[in-house]
Amino acid sequence: VHSTQTHHFQAEVAQLLHLVTHSLYSNPEIFLRELISNASDACDKLRFEALNQSELYESDPDLAIRITLDKSKKTLTITDNGIGMSEQEAIDHLGTIAKSGTKDFMSRLSGDQKTDAQLIGQFGVGFYSGFIVADKITVESRRAGVPAADGVRWVSNGTGDFTVERIDRPARGTSVILHLREDAEQYLNAWQVKQVVNKYSDHISLPIQMLKEVWQDAKEENQPGQMVTTDEWETINSASALWTRPKKDVSDEQYTEFYKHISHDFHAPLAWTHNRVEGATEYTQLLFIPAKAPQDLYYRDSQSGLKLYVKRVFIMDSAEQLLPNYLRFIKGVIDSADLPLNVSRELLQESRDVRAIREGNTRRILSTLEQLASSENTAEQEKFATFYAEFGAVLKEGLGEDTSNRDKIAKLLRFASTNSDSVTRSLTDYKAAMPEGQTAIYYITAENFAAAKNSPQLELFRKKGIEVLLMTDRIDEWALGFLTEFDGTPLQSVTKGAVDLGALQDDEEKKAAEAAAEQLKPLLEQLQETLKDKAKAVRITTRLVDSPACLVQDQNDLSPQLAKMFKQMGQ
Ligand code: ADP
Ligand code: MG
Repeated sequence: VHSTQTHHFQAEVAQLLHLVTHSLYSNPEIFLRELISNASDACDKLRFEALNQSELYESDPDLAIRITLDKSKKTLTITDNGIGMSEQEAIDHLGTIAKSGTKDFMSRLSGDQKTDAQLIGQFGVGFYSGFIVADKITVESRRAGVPAADGVRWVSNGTGDFTVERIDRPARGTSVILHLREDAEQYLNAWQVKQVVNKYSDHISLPIQMLKEVWQDAKEENQPGQMVTTDEWETINSASALWTRPKKDVSDEQYTEFYKHISHDFHAPLAWTHNRVEGATEYTQLLFIPAKAPQDLYYRDSQSGLKLYVKRVFIMDSAEQLLPNYLRFIKGVIDSADLPLNVSRELLQESRDVRAIREGNTRRILSTLEQLASSENTAEQEKFATFYAEFGAVLKEGLGEDTSNRDKIAKLLRFASTNSDSVTRSLTDYKAAMPEGQTAIYYITAENFAAAKNSPQLELFRKKGIEVLLMTDRIDEWALGFLTEFDGTPLQSVTKGAVDLGALQDDEEKKAAEAAAEQLKPLLEQLQETLKDKAKAVRITTRLVDSPACLVQDQNDLSPQLAKMFKQMGQ
């Protein structure tokens, strides 16, 4: 006889459960999406572990997710024959919140029932979504490869605690048994359940099955016929991996649901690109550009978002070798036809195929962005603007990281300028508007927009009507260091060195400047002497119009912004 132990939920879980069970739900049906998604993840994990350990399949190699309805007990059960959970795993995984998405969700709670309930609907809160429709959940599970006697039963009514006990469970995998609330009994209706599965989970690559129902005519005359449940399983989804389907057979809604499934993001993606790449290296790529930057985008250990499959077998999450670091925000799936099934992260690093895939992915993303940027369609243009506001700064890292695509990246950059307060000026536009005689693209880097815009360094440029790009991202100084020219025109910081406007200055101005230089020579020498420990040189300048003096840097010096950035990075 095994004893039943009682455990308390982690405080955050209890808080979350309280909310789930006490709010009005704008979208109760999402519980199915969440639980099916977990069942699918569990099957992926089994497949992966079984690559080197095929006995984990036991005698049950056909992975599937099954939904059963029991009208008399008022239960809906989702069963998978995936990896399963040990007792300890059930305690850990179903009693604490580990995933960052749910933490993010918690941080957004407003305390207002209505708005919070809407948030639940958008996010889904993983396993705990079950309590939207159930007043008790029983989970029975057995991990792949362990004896039948090592099963576990986890039970909770969604308040402060849960119990676990050891059970006999011959079947590998997990059953989540939802004891439906009175107001959720519509989910005992097979037709209704199928509708929801179709809406949210059609992209799941495993078969999702239900017992087939058939119409049975009445045995006696004048009696009504009825639907009866047979004992034959019927697959209710397409059950093919979404990325293997032809583009034309996948709807925008299906792409969006698939994106949410793999990314744990509750926003719809901005754009996606889906291609079968043939040639020396063969693979399918399905890449999504998110609409919102994750909070950990700038952390050193932020995870890349590509899942790697080899011939439809899930191999690993966050395969960072498949994308350059500056595109780490991209989510998606790569399914390779060439890599070995037992490929490891170390092997990925050296693989020629992986290099080809990474290059192919990079090209695709940059061209997808270019299409959005240059589109005539305002909706697409807005998408690009959203993208740029969220990810523009990360993209700039590419100027340093990805020499071979530097020109393409440079084309995508947008800046504010002395002619534009919004961050919309491209280098291409800037060049096209340059007056005759201007030989460089001028820019200034500063802490913020106001500092850039009001810098005395811009006085002469303003007077001459020469546009200067205003750069205020922390990374600009560093990134622009790699971009010495654009389309044959050099980039020149107006705060560095002597600014030579060349042909843009007329002879009279030059003569006046020379005369002034001659006249002011004694003053200059005196200043140079006084400031000899503080300034490298004191020069007469033509760049000021109203201000008497300004500080500039030597052409090759580290700017104050850059020096600060390095200091913050601990270098
Ligand atoms: P997430 O799926 O984002 O990790 P969930 O709240 O949906 O978060 O699930 C929490 C954890 O519970 C999962 O990560 C997994 O470890 C475990 N789990 C949930 N359902 C299953 C299942 N059907 N089979 C095995 N493990 C599961
Ligand atoms: Mg989940």
